[in-house]
Amino acid sequence: MDSNRIRRFTYIINTVILFLVIGLAGFFYLCKAPILLWFSVPTLLVYIIGYALIAKDRLDIYVRLVYFWITIYFCLCTISLGYKIGMHLYCLSMIPIIFYTEYMADKLGKTKINAFVASGIIGICYLFSTGFSAFVGPIYTVDNTIAGVFWIFNSVIVLGFLVFYSRLMLSLIGDYENQLKQTALIDRLTGLYNRHYMVGRLESAAKETGPHFVAMIDIDDFKKINDRYGHNAGDYVLVNVARILKDICRDSKVSRWGGEEFLILTSGSVSADASLIEKLRAAIEKEDFAFGEDHIKVTITAGLADYSGSDSIDKWVNVADENLYKGKKSGKNKVVC
Ligand code: GH3
Ligand code: MG
Ligand code: MG
Repeated sequence: MDSNRIRRFTYIINTVILFLVIGLAGFFYLCKAPILLWFSVPTLLVYIIGYALIAKDRLDIYVRLVYFWITIYFCLCTISLGYKIGMHLYCLSMIPIIFYTEYMADKLGKTKINAFVASGIIGICYLFSTGFSAFVGPIYTVDNTIAGVFWIFNSVIVLGFLVFYSRLMLSLIGDYENQLKQTALIDRLTGLYNRHYMVGRLESAAKETGPHFVAMIDIDDFKKINDRYGHNAGDYVLVNVARILKDICRDSKVSRWGGEEFLILTSGSVSADASLIEKLRAAIEKEDFAFGEDHIKVTITAGLADYSGSDSIDKWVNVADENLYKGKKSGKNKVVC
C-alpha cells in the first residue's frame, strides 16, 4: 500500500470508529452509564482531531493517539459495564493492527511504534479491566439480555475482523511474492525475460516433444554506439531493439541473455522458420533509432540452432553462439544457420 492509499484507508477507519462511538454513546445512555456517556465527548474529539492529523499526514501521531485512547476507552467500558458485554475483545483485535503499523512505518521510513511494548501495555490494560470487573464487579449493572446481545455482537465483529485481517495479510503476502518472482525473472532495463528465466524455459522446451530452435542475437558494434553517442543512447537502443524483438517474435520467448545479447526460443525448426529471425534483422536495419538530435543506425547478427533432442542446454546454446561467431567473422548484419 502506498502513502495515499494508507491515508484514504485511515480516513475510512476514522469515520467508521467515529460513528461507532456515537452509536455506543446511545447505548451508554440506555444503560444509564454517565461516566461512559461523558467519556464519549473527548473520545469524539479525538476522532475529529484525527481527521486533521490524517490531512496533515501525521499518521504517526494519529496512530499513537488512537491506540492510546481506544485502549482506555475499551478498558473503561469493561470496568464500568463488566466483561460480559465483550468490549475487552477489541483490545485483542488491536494487536495485529499494531504489528502491521510498525511494519508499514518501517517500510515508509516513518517513526515506528514498538509493537511488542504497545501489545504489552494493551495486554496489561486488558487483564486489569477484565480482572477488575470479574473480582470487584462492574460499576453499572446491565440487563443480562442486553449484555448477552452485546457480547454476541462484539464477539462476531472481533472474530470477523480477525478472519478478514488474516485473509487480507495472506493475500498481501501472496501479491508481494508474485511481484518478487516477477522482478527476479525480468530484466530491469528492457522488460524482457532475463537469462535465469530463459534457462528454465530452455530446459522445459527440451522436454517437450515438438521441435524448437534458439536464436542468439548480438547487436553489431554496440561499443561504438556507446562511445559515439553515450551510454544513455546505448540504453535507448537496447530498449528499442528489445521492443522490436518482442513485437516481431510475439509467440516466442525473448530474453536479454547478457549486455547486448538476446536469446530467442521459438517453436519450429531452423529450416522452416529462420525467416522470422531474418525479418527481425531486416526490421532493425531499417529502423531509425532517434535519440535526441542523433539518428542511430543499428544492425544485428544472429546465430541459430535447432534442439537436437539429446544435447544439453549448454551445448544447444553453444551451437547458436558458434553460428553467431561465424556471422560476426563474415561481416556481421546477417543470420547464420
Ligand atoms: P560486436 O559487433 O563484435 O558484437 O562488437 P560490440 O562492440 O557490439 O561488442 P563488445 O563485446 O566489444 O561490446 C559490447 C558493449 O556493450 C560493451 C559494453 O559496455 C556494452 N554494454 C553492455 N551492457 C550494456 C548496457 O546495459 N547499456 C549500455 N549502454 N551498454 C552496455
Ligand atoms: Mg556481445
Ligand atoms: Mg555486439
